[in-house]
Amino acid sequence: MTSDTPRGMSYQQFRITVSGPFKDALVQKLAHVGSLGLIENDDHLVAYFPDAVPVVTIIRELHIMKAVLEASGHELTFEHALIPDRDWNESWKKGFTPLDVGERFTILPPWERTKPGRINLIIDPGMAFGTGHHETTRSCLVLMERHAGRTALGRFLDLGTGTGLLAIAAAKIGYASVLAIDTDPLTVDAAKKNCALNSAADVDVREGDLSVVDGTFDMITANLFSVLLIELAPAIASRLNRGGIAVLSGMLREQADAVLTAMNKAGLRSLEKLDDGKWTSLAVKLK
Ligand code: SAH
Repeated sequence: MTSDTPRGMSYQQFRITVSGPFKDALVQKLAHVGSLGLIENDDHLVAYFPDAVPVVTIIRELHIMKAVLEASGHELTFEHALIPDRDWNESWKKGFTPLDVGERFTILPPWERTKPGRINLIIDPGMAFGTGHHETTRSCLVLMERHAGRTALGRFLDLGTGTGLLAIAAAKIGYASVLAIDTDPLTVDAAKKNCALNSAADVDVREGDLSVVDGTFDMITANLFSVLLIELAPAIASRLNRGGIAVLSGMLREQADAVLTAMNKAGLRSLEKLDDGKWTSLAVKLK
């Protein structure tokens, strides 16, 4: 998005403060209304909208959400500013600086220099989720690198790939064949571009859910949300090789037990549970 932003366009920037548990619902709502990008900070988030989205629509949605939250004793506040075209790239870029994750990874945007001695994952923070600025993405990388040594470096599946970050990381740590799927067509485009940026063109990026996938895998990553993880537990189990490991994320801490129960029922057992902020991630394998 940074490179092919049409000239002469301005952007609406919203700085929004919301109680923690509602942040994800808000992020989804903003994406639905047409947000082009989001930067999540500890106590607030900043969302950008193209001029084409009427500002009244955004403000109306925020007012609705504010009213709903206030009815249950929670707060939402926001302020809004128009960013002229000439400032756009700079204000966007400021939110994305290189980030070291786990033992070996560095995530960086294309305009930064790669770090020697690290596995550099170059991500253009376009429209998709997964710039590494979210705890769940980082936890997936940490669990992937910790457990990759326990699996054959054969087939890898990233279920819900977003920017493609985890699939690119898998290719770079040596998985022989990497498949990345996502139900969102915009995301699939972003992931393909990011694979090209990382010289990871052999990552197979496909639009769709698990039905577009054949066979079983040595490692599966699924950074989704708890309800979907619970629903997909049997499918994930059936897609693992004996000895294969699934890295699951996107559940809130208090949802981890329910996800684990579903995984146990599906024949999986926990290898590791990793908490980061309000989020939990799990590494599981067949019993
Ligand atoms: N893997 C990235 C992105 C996670 S966001 C990361 O860890 O940062 C979750 C992604 O899953 C979204 O891009 C969403 O479009 C996709 N998704 C949601 N449900 C899905 C499903 N049933 N099958 C495939 N992808 C799905």
